[in-house]
Amino acid sequence: MMATEFIPYGRQTIDQADIDAVTEVLTSSHLTQGPKVTAFEQALATKVHARHAVAANSATSALHLACLALGVQQGDWVWTSPNTFIASANCARYCSAKVDFVDIDPVTYNLCPNALAKKLTQAKLDNRLPKVVIPVHFAGQSCDMKAIHQLSLEYGFQIIEDASHAIGGQYQGKPIGDCRYSDICVFSFHPVKIITSGEGGMATTNSSEYANHMRTHAQQGTTKDPEVLSQHPGDWYYEQHSLGFNYRMTELQAALGLSQLTKLDDFIAQRHAQFEYYSDKLKHLPITLPQQDIDTHSALHLYPILLPKAHHNSRKAVFDALRLAGIGTQVHYIPVHTQPYYQALGFAWGDFPIAESYYQRTLSLPLFYDLTQAQQDTVIKALTQALQDHGVIN
Ligand SMILES: *Cc1c(COP(=O)(O)O)cnc(C)c1O
Repeated sequence: MMATEFIPYGRQTIDQADIDAVTEVLTSSHLTQGPKVTAFEQALATKVHARHAVAANSATSALHLACLALGVQQGDWVWTSPNTFIASANCARYCSAKVDFVDIDPVTYNLCPNALAKKLTQAKLDNRLPKVVIPVHFAGQSCDMKAIHQLSLEYGFQIIEDASHAIGGQYQGKPIGDCRYSDICVFSFHPVKIITSGEGGMATTNSSEYANHMRTHAQQGTTKDPEVLSQHPGDWYYEQHSLGFNYRMTELQAALGLSQLTKLDDFIAQRHAQFEYYSDKLKHLPITLPQQDIDTHSALHLYPILLPKAHHNSRKAVFDALRLAGIGTQVHYIPVHTQPYYQALGFAWGDFPIAESYYQRTLSLPLFYDLTQAQQDTVIKALTQALQDHGVIN
């Protein structure tokens, strides 16, 4: 058998300009806390129409900083989607808050505003309303932010968008990250996401108060701001006013992120072309293809398909067959509440049935900038074969 190249479900695209940008930093005076971080923050803020952007060493760190800035603490409730990476929930746990989940919409796989409204009604009666809700723009497609924002006004919670999948995406014709319907929005630059800085994240906000709070807490809770210092004996002087962390982004990361940001529109356009190609070639199969809400222009981080309900037991076999054929399919996501850590906090299978049913049936097909049409054909052929071999189609 001919050895075929492995096609991952996602991967970074690094060109010579990226390499040059990083190399240049290596021989400069700053490896961290220099001009590249500031330039990346400013370029990203401009790109997504936000007043402020604060860089961090990961989106997980940025989510933690966002929770801290909104004052999340012990006794508070934070709600998020079960169909997400664990970091969307863990950030609340870092602040000793209690986590709960809101089931997803069966079409977009995003946190469902109707389920949220229903849960809020009950939470109000029980006196356990959330302090913060963290909608996650799954696969790069925006949540129904207008509806969620409307509920936030009614019930008095704040909103952190987990836009780890969604840089370059739009909602109602405006960039995700402009925080029109949220307090803070967080992006990830992990290599599997839309653009990368190796590791890295960024929080955008229109509030200078939140921006300062996040900046300070990414640097151990220290400040050199003359307006805040209790004394100023000299230029060496700084003060720690609260307990922060070392969540700093390096100059190397920022230089790479800045270079990648210039290619964002091209990356998104390419993903849309690849998305259309899959959707066209797969439309005759008895599987559910990802649907695009009319209000959104997705960043298309993922291409999740669903096996028919009657065949959910074949998911593992189809997954294994694709892996054997050299195709790096993946499952996004194991519902967060079913993780042993969250089960130990009281959650159980059955709590969020739509997210669970989705999980049983889903597979993400490879989608990344360098994926060629020939590789997409390979994926389509292997998927069709696997569906045939395992009785999903005959
Ligand atoms: C990747 C991801 C994160 C965490 O991002 P890091 O930069 O790896 O910390 C958080 N939330 C979601 C939805 C993600 O996909």
